[in-house]
Amino acid sequence: MTNLREAHAHLVAHGRAASMAQLAGARSASDVLERLRAAADSLPPGAWVLGTGARPESWPERGWPTLCELDSAVPDRPVLAWCFDYHAVLVNSPALRAVGIDGATPDPSGGLIVRDAAGRPTGELLETAALLAWSAVPEPAPAESLACLDRALADLAALGFVEVHDLKSQPWLGPMLAELDREGRLPLRVHLYPLVDDLPAVAAGRLAWESDRVRLAGGKVFTDGTLNSRTASMLHPFADPLPNHPRGTPMMTAAGIESAIGVCEGLGVGLAAHAIGDGAVRAVLDAVERVRPRACRVRVEHAEIVDRADVPRFARLGVACSVQPCHLLADVEALRRLLPHRLDRVLPLRELIDAGCEPGRLLLFGSDTPIVRPDPADSILAATARRRSGEPAEAAIAPEQAVSEAEAWACFGAG
Ligand SMILES: [Zn+2]
Repeated sequence: MTNLREAHAHLVAHGRAASMAQLAGARSASDVLERLRAAADSLPPGAWVLGTGARPESWPERGWPTLCELDSAVPDRPVLAWCFDYHAVLVNSPALRAVGIDGATPDPSGGLIVRDAAGRPTGELLETAALLAWSAVPEPAPAESLACLDRALADLAALGFVEVHDLKSQPWLGPMLAELDREGRLPLRVHLYPLVDDLPAVAAGRLAWESDRVRLAGGKVFTDGTLNSRTASMLHPFADPLPNHPRGTPMMTAAGIESAIGVCEGLGVGLAAHAIGDGAVRAVLDAVERVRPRACRVRVEHAEIVDRADVPRFARLGVACSVQPCHLLADVEALRRLLPHRLDRVLPLRELIDAGCEPGRLLLFGSDTPIVRPDPADSILAATARRRSGEPAEAAIAPEQAVSEAEAWACFGAG
């Protein structure tokens, strides 16, 4: 297959993740401590130790190391380790001090500072609390960002992609890509989706950098959290929810989603709405139904759980469903533990296509790299077999939702 499109990527983050401590392959919480300690030894004094790809769900301990364990592994400098889904971090005490979080700090709006029985932070920070910690990490210099971008573009081009959609584009990304294009160093087309909050400013400068190779395609919003962090917004409670959040945490009100559609409509661009849980997916479709935008093409990003009643609404409303089937391969344990009662609603690809979501136009595949690797073979496997390679047929998640290999490749089609 040629002319592949990666419909959901984070270019700079993909390049930057390559320079962090790699926690994806860690087999346990103590293995993570070992990797962070080794990374600290290789860095100049005082530099932040950054890690990426942690999957606490998959370790025998079923969770992060304690703050005390992390502090004894790396006592003398800040540590920030990302959960693979980029919606949660673990930080050590020097990092908590650098961010200004202690036992008296209230949860930021849309975030959670996880605390022990005595009310002390455990080092685990969710959603906006994780972003707060990340904002304390020194920004990479422009030359370093450029190197990250270069590496990401080369990685994706090597996999056969001719077009990539960047789904939370930094305001400086368009100009940087245009510069690369002028120098003949842009190997594929890039569509940009900056946060809706940044969109008016980015759109105001677009004439200076837009071309047929680098395009401002729309705005991005987050309407819920993630499955693994149990912050996805669900119609039904999680089997093992966060305290006080049985159905996760919606991150936007109905009025907020409508107003984001309005901003994009006014600028004549699309809207990509992150919605993982079935509650969030429904909230986006409801908002489109009420607003009925004309110029603004709306996409739902992730749609990992979709209620049966909402499946036909995508094609009817002209809303594209932008999914990452490859996440199924990584999320099996979390799905079985958190949503045993909703496994039949995970990525209903068969139903979506049968309900009129044309592959490549209204049903798009991507990887969300660096959350998982961007090899399209992973999504082809997940979409057609609904299980990891080598696993028996009984291990499949909602096998009735499998699609054919030709349909799956068509969802990667850039035309
Ligand atoms: Zn993403």
